[in-house]
Amino acid sequence: MNLDRLKLLYKDIILEQANNPQNTGRIRNPTNETNVYNPSCGDKLHFTCTLDKNKKITAIAFEGEGCSISQASASMMTQVVKGKSTKQAIELSKIFSDMAMGKKHSQEDLEKLGDAQVLINIMQFPARIKCATLSWWALDRMLLGEKRDKKND
Ligand code: ZN
Repeated sequence: MNLDRLKLLYKDIILEQANNPQNTGRIRNPTNETNVYNPSCGDKLHFTCTLDKNKKITAIAFEGEGCSISQASASMMTQVVKGKSTKQAIELSKIFSDMAMGKKHSQEDLEKLGDAQVLINIMQFPARIKCATLSWWALDRMLLGEKRDKKND
């Protein structure tokens, strides 16, 4: 695929996902949830998910406001990790953040990210990297737990 075509595809997928995001809303009685905020752009997202007894993500949803990239990224992230084990989801998050930082990954690893791999193009726009990584950061926080105050434990 040449670069122009990849850019076009990237724009199409971002717009399509941002205009028609999947897994929006809030899970009722979630086992895990988190809020994330990207002050440089104003993206604010709230994620909820349900883990079954085998730590598999059986349901995941997000709500909130933000730019097209943050909305598209959240939509793609939730689609990719739904049905995965917590361990697999954390692995995907690692691949995504490594990719966003410009580390090389095998094609096989990238393909695991599904549509989210088009966000690799975001590296051309450093100001928007946080918009793309916000939802993956939220995933880590939601699954691994936020560092809480002792009193909340
Ligand atoms: Zn943004």
